[in-house]
Amino acid sequence: MTLPIFLIGARGCGKTTVGRALALSQGFQFIDTDSWLQEEAQQTVAQIVEQEGWAGFRARETAALEAVTEPALVIATGGGIILSDYNRRFMREHGRVIYLCAPVDVLAGRLEAFPQEGLRPTLTGKPISEEVSEVLATRDALYRDAAHFVVDAAQPPLAVVAEIEAALRLARA
Ligand code: ADP
Ligand code: MG
Repeated sequence: MTLPIFLIGARGCGKTTVGRALALSQGFQFIDTDSWLQEEAQQTVAQIVEQEGWAGFRARETAALEAVTEPALVIATGGGIILSDYNRRFMREHGRVIYLCAPVDVLAGRLEAFPQEGLRPTLTGKPISEEVSEVLATRDALYRDAAHFVVDAAQPPLAVVAEIEAALRLARA
């Protein structure tokens, strides 16, 4: 079974970190939709949002999702990819969708520890824990709606990989 694996979840949940490790373990390639679209546009997410607004960024994100999707790939997505019904359906129909679920304090702690990774403009301009809490409140249901499996992303990266692999094995059995 070489269906692509889509990793979804909030900023800081570990999509990139866990995705790389999962790809290595599965013998899959790894791709990050945010990195892909920034390379394609030759602009950062912040620049795209500044010039084209969030709607422009979201359109590019859907195009990136469609362009990169192929077998034997682990695809790390942007935190807001699930805002679009189309993206949620696309991922469910084209691969296995895994929600890396972690509580607000874990997410905020990671983002605060590594602020250099917060290149993306904040969504609300509020303190990080408040923003994470608000974003999760509206998006958690959408992540769950899109996902085939929900895993505990507060564990160390390799434990998250093991939980994903166990879920995929069960699904195949
Ligand atoms: P995302 O791609 O979902 O935004 P990242 O993989 O970039 O998240 O991780 C954000 C930060 O949290 C990074 O500094 C990373 O090292 C750290 N991190 C990610 N996953 C874990 C984990 N399971 N345990 C501890 N730290 C993690
Ligand atoms: Mg990432």
